[in-house]
Amino acid sequence: MLSEDTIVAISTPPGRGGIGVVRLSGERALELGLSIVHLKAESSRQGKAPEPQRVHFGEFFDPATGAALDQILFTYFKAPVSYTGEEVVELSAHGAPAVLRHMVERLLAAGARLARPGEFTLRAFLNGKMDLAQAEAVADLIHSQTLYQARVAAQQLEGVLSRRLKPSKEKLLQLITLLEAGIDFADDDVPVASDEEILARVGVVRAELDELARSFATGRIVHEGLVLAIVGRPNVGKSSLFNRLLNEDRAIVTAQPGTTRDLVAETVQLGGIPLRFVDTAGLREAHDEAEQIGVQKSMAALADADLTLVVLDRSEFLGEEDARVIARVARAAQRDGEAEPAAQRLLLVLNKSDLPSRWGETELSQVISIGVGPSPARGATGTSVAVALPTAAVSALTGAGIEELRNKILEMTVPQLDFSAEPRFLTNARHRQCVTNALEALDTAALATRHRVPHEMILMDLHRSLRALDEITGETTVEDILDRIFSQFCIGK
Ligand code: GDP
Repeated sequence: MLSEDTIVAISTPPGRGGIGVVRLSGERALELGLSIVHLKAESSRQGKAPEPQRVHFGEFFDPATGAALDQILFTYFKAPVSYTGEEVVELSAHGAPAVLRHMVERLLAAGARLARPGEFTLRAFLNGKMDLAQAEAVADLIHSQTLYQARVAAQQLEGVLSRRLKPSKEKLLQLITLLEAGIDFADDDVPVASDEEILARVGVVRAELDELARSFATGRIVHEGLVLAIVGRPNVGKSSLFNRLLNEDRAIVTAQPGTTRDLVAETVQLGGIPLRFVDTAGLREAHDEAEQIGVQKSMAALADADLTLVVLDRSEFLGEEDARVIARVARAAQRDGEAEPAAQRLLLVLNKSDLPSRWGETELSQVISIGVGPSPARGATGTSVAVALPTAAVSALTGAGIEELRNKILEMTVPQLDFSAEPRFLTNARHRQCVTNALEALDTAALATRHRVPHEMILMDLHRSLRALDEITGETTVEDILDRIFSQFCIGK
């Protein structure tokens, strides 16, 4: 995959800017870079290479007339002290797209090749500048929409995940060494590990990895954002609540044309976690077939929500319609094949708490039982689950209770989040899959041990588990995984 080519790309986003950077990496980076610029005398004496790890002032010129096209800063990173580990030159020009494009064309004509998406970072990985999890963190950092997401990515870039995996990998290696020694010296009097000891050691690693795999529930939401639904009968205050949640804590991010995420011009966030809302407008009525389709669509959308806020109006009597909404939502929130009860994804928002209340806990329990009771999956336990639904009293009008509601939302969806501590969760689905594979191999090893299978076979499972963990950091990786990861990058990174 790695060639000796010298690659080139515009590394700054498309469009006009204060500066624009063209980056070169590869053996001929310095020679090619120098072929299109004149560096000022004080920066580079005639015939001598510019001093490495320094910025030099110069001009990008038109070869036909010798006239200057732009003033530039020329930064030379001598290998291996560079992002990619190769010879790197960065040409910072004023950000005119026409000039930057022309610069790249001239470098291509001189013998450079256009970089593929993520190729600079791929080279950094292949040259041992960073492990695979760190390279993936570069993409996460670029795509982060909130400062908290950036912080999580930056810490992964710094190697947090690789450090977290290290102790488990070491324990696994020790066990492998022990078993291999037992086999090698089978005829001697070297004590072979007892089944109890193998099981105990596997158990320790298993527990560590299991905790890591579970942390993905939080990490996924940090990475992808939190999907919220707001439902309730008409006039309970859904729009008002939506605006309350929307209007505070807004994060504006600049649209970057040309990237896949350029639709996201504005991100609503909750404590650094981007919020997305699902459309459940069609949930209410189903008088005819068309509306029935609307209901189905909304139900499907609801099933994807991490949390559904069911809004109830404290100033009006509760009724059949409220019960019906709760019933639908409870059904949608019960995901197939998941042990987690639907109640963990429902939050009752008791709105209009600024007005005199027309009902209390008893009436609420009744409505919940009517709503949740008929669900076939729930059976006899329906009522007790229903009564335990969490609530939050707010006034969308005055803003009372909104802060508590925000905290409650975070508590319910990302319980492991501690903003003040180093993030200790997996954010990447590929990493989660690797950990799951490692766990499965460990389980097979434990089962084999219990069945007194020869150690040679158990060793194969342990190696398989270790390999799965190595895939996270890229110590063992096949090319198609690399292709998949780096093709998600933008060109120039
Ligand atoms: P939706 O139909 O559920 O989206 O409800 P709206 O958000 O449109 O609100 C319906 C009405 O209730 C509007 O007149 C709001 O001003 C009013 N309203 C919403 N929230 C509150 C609240 O907390 N207190 C009071 N007093 N009125 C509210």
